Amino acid sequence: MTETLCKRCGTLAQIYSRKEHFCQQCFCTFVSSKQRKQMMSDAYFQDIFKVMHQDKVRTEEQAAAENAASRVLVPLSLGSSSLTMLDILNDTLKEQKLTQRGKTGFHVDALICFKRPELNELKKQVNKLSTIRYKENQSSIKFHYVDLESFYNEPEFQLLILSKKYLCSSIDGSKSNIKSLLEQCPNSTSREDLLTFVTRHLVKKYAFQNNHKAILWGHSMTKLADETMSLVVKGRGEHISSLIDSSQPDFDYGGKFRHLYPLKDVLLSEVDAYCYSSGLDKFLVNYTPQDTLLLTKHSETKSIGKLIKNMTINEMVRKYFDDIEKDYSNVISTVVRTADKLAEPKKIEPQEKCTLCKGNIHTLGPNWLQSITVEEGYAVKTEEEKELYRKWCDSDLRNQRDEALALVDSVTSRGNPVPLCYGCIITLGGVKNRCVTWPRDSDNELNQTLKEFELRDEE
Ligand SMILES: [Zn+2]
Ligand SMILES: [Zn+2]
Repeated sequence: MTETLCKRCGTLAQIYSRKEHFCQQCFCTFVSSKQRKQMMSDAYFQDIFKVMHQDKVRTEEQAAAENAASRVLVPLSLGSSSLTMLDILNDTLKEQKLTQRGKTGFHVDALICFKRPELNELKKQVNKLSTIRYKENQSSIKFHYVDLESFYNEPEFQLLILSKKYLCSSIDGSKSNIKSLLEQCPNSTSREDLLTFVTRHLVKKYAFQNNHKAILWGHSMTKLADETMSLVVKGRGEHISSLIDSSQPDFDYGGKFRHLYPLKDVLLSEVDAYCYSSGLDKFLVNYTPQDTLLLTKHSETKSIGKLIKNMTINEMVRKYFDDIEKDYSNVISTVVRTADKLAEPKKIEPQEKCTLCKGNIHTLGPNWLQSITVEEGYAVKTEEEKELYRKWCDSDLRNQRDEALALVDSVTSRGNPVPLCYGCIITLGGVKNRCVTWPRDSDNELNQTLKEFELRDEE
């Protein structure tokens, strides 16, 4: 059997991607170049990542100050994409030190938003990363931890409740926690949606408070495609453009930073192959990378299939893209390119934000939902129907419904109407009793310092 050789350097090939054979090293260089291209995609990001030197417009001190102020935030889940992105940032810093007389152009803060039970495993892996793999850059790459529960470390809360007419009212609420929020969700999609808002808000708030110039999200092209399709399915298509826009600052958080998706040109299977090729796979938490592009498979990586009915919408879309990634990867890039071109729809009330997800509002959700909803029940006619109706009247289900309706009525009469986007009306409509406890949005909330989890040395 003849050996397949890397098209770029002629050594033994180990990976096959985009109709080309690569050795491990050339493949890592290929992925890395895709990320670096995004990091240099416009003047704003160039200013962040480039090493500034003394020149005609700046003194040496000014150049040093600019380099020190170029700080980016990397939300790190320790899945394959966020870790690959961090790894390429580390390589970039190493190279800068080597070629720019010991100087570097930027600093990285990696932020880990954790749930308590996962903390020990995350800490263990981060410790290995920071003391072994990223040892040379310990002063430029710092790790921070924020407990997801800190979302509820706020002074003021509100109870948001959805009426039969799909209108949302707010009354004063008392402190809650993530656990009870998630327990109220009837399915994994709404749990995932609410948890995404919580995490995204914590990350943005952290960037706001710590003066980062950009948040670098690890999303691969595949992840961006499944995020786009899932948003459409969930009635949240109006927020696609603001989610992936990296051409302007995030004005909802004071316009202090921009968002960047450095791996948007790299497929998830390529990110995973990068993990294997660069030895990152042993640092991953809760994730087994796919070996689809490797010429020699890792036989132990067969994942256990999940039942469709237990999947979230994102997971279903992801499964679809995983299935087509090998032969039809152009579908994925088309979805992402299309999403990139979407403009934001016209806002209804320019200043109004959704109370749950903080997104802009572009449709009159309640009007549309009222127009397609039949509120009158169907009359009970046959004996069988009468019997079933009697059973329902005697059951707990009826009590629960009556309680929920009474709560809605009492809150609607005393509460203040608050805006919700269409997608959040649907999410809240599916939550138990159609209500959630949410922090009250205010400037005060954004400035309330996020407490970082302190690491003690002995742990
Ligand atoms: Zn090669
Ligand atoms: Zn919303």
